[in-house]
Amino acid sequence: MFLFRRKQKAVIVPRAEHNISRRDIDPDALKVLYRLASLKHKAYLVGGSVRDLLLGRKPKDFDVGTDARPNEIRREFRNCFLVGRRFRLAHIVFGKKIIETATFRKAPPPDAVQDEHGLYQAEDNTFGTPEEDALRRDFTVNGLFYDIETFAVIDYVGGLRDLKSKTIRSIGDPAIRFREDPVRMMRAVRFAAKLGFDIAPADLRAIRRYAPELANASTSRLCEEILRLFVKGASRRCLSLAYDYRLLHALLPTLAAWLDQDPARRDAAWAALGAVDALAAQGHEPSPGLALAALHWPLILAKAEALRRDKPRAPEHFLRRLAAEEALAPAVRKYRLPRAAWMTAADIAEMVGRLRHPPQEHSGRDVRFVNHPIFPEILMGARALATHLPPEPGAAPEPWPLDAWDALYRARGPYAAFPGGLPPPDLPNPHSRRARRPANAQKRRRRKPRRPPADQTP
Ligand code: ATP
Ligand code: MG
Repeated sequence: MFLFRRKQKAVIVPRAEHNISRRDIDPDALKVLYRLASLKHKAYLVGGSVRDLLLGRKPKDFDVGTDARPNEIRREFRNCFLVGRRFRLAHIVFGKKIIETATFRKAPPPDAVQDEHGLYQAEDNTFGTPEEDALRRDFTVNGLFYDIETFAVIDYVGGLRDLKSKTIRSIGDPAIRFREDPVRMMRAVRFAAKLGFDIAPADLRAIRRYAPELANASTSRLCEEILRLFVKGASRRCLSLAYDYRLLHALLPTLAAWLDQDPARRDAAWAALGAVDALAAQGHEPSPGLALAALHWPLILAKAEALRRDKPRAPEHFLRRLAAEEALAPAVRKYRLPRAAWMTAADIAEMVGRLRHPPQEHSGRDVRFVNHPIFPEILMGARALATHLPPEPGAAPEPWPLDAWDALYRARGPYAAFPGGLPPPDLPNPHSRRARRPANAQKRRRRKPRRPPADQTP
């Protein structure tokens, strides 16, 4: 068994020779690192944050690796919760932010329990050294450490070389690593799209060979990683790569089979995703619902067309809603996609056509529409997908009056009274559970049942 390449010496890059500055590290992550270091523990920034900092990108989150054991971490941080059954991780909580702090661990030894396919259970890990921790990670560029004591970058896996050559390469033999955890194939494609890197040839061969094994991964992890494929600003590249390497065929077989039949369908789907990426490049935050709608857009339109033949008198928006629900159904059923994502996608399909005509400032109907919590999603959907809708029969194709709708939203919408007229950030999607739960639901649930008045008790 050669799970990992020959042991190689760590490459240590001192502070003067790399670009990671503490100014770019989240202050709460720094607090965790300093505290662990002051207790004489090793404390490293690990994973994607080191990769992103070295590339001059803003990391999404900051993870910490340490030789302190989970219980020791919990003792030191009052704001710490231990999570995970097989491998305990510490979540150190700062308001809404979580700094995930994990004890260094190693991959299972060759004689570890294997599953029925002769593969190792990826989660059944035990504590290890920093080097072992680097070797159990997925790709070389994700296996780098930043040491808070010396401010050096430590590379046990050849990640620095691959960052330079812009390569996504598995740590160890990709054929083994991908079969051990097929979700890693989706991650390879995601990182390649997100960073603009190429996938190493051996990894590509392994993906082509083992893509069908994705069907064996747990649906909840697949659901999470499917939504992560809609990389902000690079969803077109990510999904088209997933299609080319037949990962999409394993994940969404109905959609992939439909796309297989005609290159024009694929071009239309990639163009719709490209439009969503263009919005992200302009500073918008496209939601997973919009990305999901874009990926299925040509299929939704084709289904609506087919439905129209059966129901020639049905209104367009009704047909498109039915078509969207039908197109998304296989994915929704198989992965239990979050309601907020698929309902938003179906709403966009249904309502985007309303923005084709200019709004009337004094129309109660239009003002009610811009005040509906889903309106911003519909407007964003129209910005991305309007040009991908067929023109109305008999009408000349005209640019949609989206700026007029935006102006009405700002002037008469729900946030008109706020300074600057902009919605406060982090509003829940109207379809998410959080938005639907009444504000006092928790309190109500906890309240004790009332006792009957004393004089009525028998
Ligand atoms: P992003 O910036 O998109 O969050 P990331 O690299 O931080 O990318 P995460 O999913 O947050 O990715 O995972 C954090 C780290 O954990 C990765 O960098 C990698 O080292 C390790 N990791 C995550 N998933 C796996 C896996 N399936 N197999 C091995 N290592 C993994
Ligand atoms: Mg991360």
